[in-house]
Amino acid sequence: MSTDTRSFDIAIVGAGPAGLTAALYAGRNLEHAVLVESKAPGGQLLNTELVEDYPGIKSILGVDLAQAMLDQASGFGTELVTAEVTRIRVHPDGLKTLETSEGDVEAPAVILTAGGNPRKLDVPGEAELAGRGVSYCAVCDGAFFRNVHLAVVGGGDAAVEEAIFLTRYASKVTIIHRREQFRAQGMLLDEARRNPKIDFILDNVVESIDGDDTVHSVHVRNVRTGDVSTVDVGGVFVFIGFVPNTGLVDVHVDHDAAGYYITHPMTMMTSVPGIFAAGDVRSQLTRQISTAVGDATTATIAAAKWVEEWKRGREDSDEELVEDIIEGVV
Ligand code: NAP
Repeated sequence: MSTDTRSFDIAIVGAGPAGLTAALYAGRNLEHAVLVESKAPGGQLLNTELVEDYPGIKSILGVDLAQAMLDQASGFGTELVTAEVTRIRVHPDGLKTLETSEGDVEAPAVILTAGGNPRKLDVPGEAELAGRGVSYCAVCDGAFFRNVHLAVVGGGDAAVEEAIFLTRYASKVTIIHRREQFRAQGMLLDEARRNPKIDFILDNVVESIDGDDTVHSVHVRNVRTGDVSTVDVGGVFVFIGFVPNTGLVDVHVDHDAAGYYITHPMTMMTSVPGIFAAGDVRSQLTRQISTAVGDATTATIAAAKWVEEWKRGREDSDEELVEDIIEGVV
């Protein structure tokens, strides 16, 4: 891309399932749409081996679903730009400028679908041993741990699902979770409990990860008794949630205590007029592929209406415009 500013009707930031869905609907509803992504399109789908809970598809490889979403979105004309967005400037007239590693992009509407990064444990040894026994991606690194005893840290869907996946390679997988109750869905948990290679250390937090060239053990502390013990493992997979990729926008955007964007329930618009959010950056109960896709559909249809009105030079308040979008007046 040239370093000149390029203008679009809408710019989508991040090409996970939400971004690819937004690209599909933007291509259908607006003339000039761009999707900006710094890595390979697919987001977390690329770190997911099998997707078994996307309606209508019994089972599909994450990478195949990503490719299918990309192919479908590309067919509707949204331009894919490989670049990193470093800042989004909001101008008084409502226009937004995306500063990217490949030049500026401007558009009246922006959909933020940049997902998040794995949350870190922040314990001694974690950063030092990252890539040498500490991992945040079972699909990427699992095969390096054949016949090794692994620890998986976390109690959500990701931890339990990835622990099950890792039993393909590992001799044993110990799930270390800080409570007795799990956030993970019952079906996943039942499957893990039935798996002879999986055991659990509950009510324990990891205090350090120890090793030299690779991981040798983790130190854990029981949160009820205070007892400290050592678990000998050859690798540690950390799945303790995500930190949303927010903070690009140069004005305040309302967010919850964990940093996820708060959006209008009917339009997915953030507190900044013309900036919408969908998928893992949005504050909501759950983060499924299907919810990301749903959010992005709503966001893009609302955004397309917002762009039409913006182009018409509509001058009344943004609240009134949102009301009209909801009521189908525009
Ligand atoms: P999550 O649901 O937020 O769970 C994070 C887990 O890590 C929780 O059990 C939490 O413990 C624990 N945790 C957080 N910080 C910790 C820390 N500092 N030390 C130790 N443990 C810590 O995150 P997730 O599992 O990554 O899932 C994210 C979203 O993606 C969820 O909405 C999930 O449903 C979805 N997802 C769905 C699927 C699927 O449907 N197949 C697969 C993967 C992810 P507490 O419970 O004590 O807070």
